[in-house]
Amino acid sequence: MSRVYNFSAGPAMLPEQVLQQAREELLDWRGSGMSVMEMSHRGKEFMSIAAQAEMDLRAILAIPDNYRVLFLQGGASSQFAMVPLNLLGEKKGADYINTGSWSKKAIAEGKRYCEVSIAGSAEYRVPSQSDLQLNPDAAYLHYTPNETIAGVEFSYIPDAGSVPLVADMSSTILSRPLDVSRFGVIYAGAQKNIGPAGLTVVILREDLIGEPLPATPSMFSYQIHADNDSMYNTPPTYGWYLAGLVFDWIKRNGGLEAMARVNQRKAQKLYTAIDASSFYSNPVDPACRSWMNVPFTLADASLDATFLAEAKEQGLVTLKGHRSVGGMRASIYNAMPEEGVDALVAFMADFEKRYG
Ligand code: PMP
Repeated sequence: MSRVYNFSAGPAMLPEQVLQQAREELLDWRGSGMSVMEMSHRGKEFMSIAAQAEMDLRAILAIPDNYRVLFLQGGASSQFAMVPLNLLGEKKGADYINTGSWSKKAIAEGKRYCEVSIAGSAEYRVPSQSDLQLNPDAAYLHYTPNETIAGVEFSYIPDAGSVPLVADMSSTILSRPLDVSRFGVIYAGAQKNIGPAGLTVVILREDLIGEPLPATPSMFSYQIHADNDSMYNTPPTYGWYLAGLVFDWIKRNGGLEAMARVNQRKAQKLYTAIDASSFYSNPVDPACRSWMNVPFTLADASLDATFLAEAKEQGLVTLKGHRSVGGMRASIYNAMPEEGVDALVAFMADFEKRYG
């Protein structure tokens, strides 16, 4: 068996120990004689898997008791609609901060349901707190703490006053400790730092769970999912189980403080290598550079294909940048070992020596 260092933005690498454990338990989960894939979601085996996963997530993120955790389907993209449908209530509008492609997607979907007001907008950096134009009457303030495509990350949590703060944490959740109490809603597609695609985690302050707008499909109602402990319909059971294995892996590996230390070091190594060279570059304001997604370009774009092909030969794969921006992107979530980043940095230096 030979595993590569996979720099995909998502679905992304999972910790090898998690995959090993899933393999060991694939045919017979702990003496049940069944695969987790074959279990009824209402049976006692799966109920225990589900409860343990939630307990572990609550422990690693120190989620306060007045928050619910939902394990849903539909990806972060469904949350772009579920947030306005469930949080607007009597209000007419919501504030959104625009820092890139994923903010724009959330804004476009929000506009289908409410008056969107742009509280702040920036490219390759994030607006500062003092630049935000906040509307005290907004139903919520939505932002994207980490823009996966451009690699732009907030280094602060916006203060929205009494307006609930909503965060699309798809590509940064679990990368470091987080003060959950600052948020009204946190949501994330699982396929980066949580588990396989198909599972969406929503962390939701209890008092925000209310009647959704009329005509909201049942499957888009936080209230219905919360009342049914995420089992209104068949949940993504195998993804939920794998997420539980990832939460346990984080717990056993020092929790989010330990993840943060390694993540910061991995990102630092890569940005230092980029900044030290005149061959590679990254346009993001150093104060807002992502720890998780590191885009960079080569001085000569005609070398892109050669770079990718040679990297692949070294076991460094999926480095191609997002199709909307080109160049390269190294996504280095929790499961990317530091040795993977070291190997990439060494390859980049060698490539520059030969072609730069
Ligand atoms: N938001 C962010 C920040 C993302 O990175 C992504 C996926 N790359 C999405 C939303 C969309 O997620 P999904 O595919 O789970 O709908």
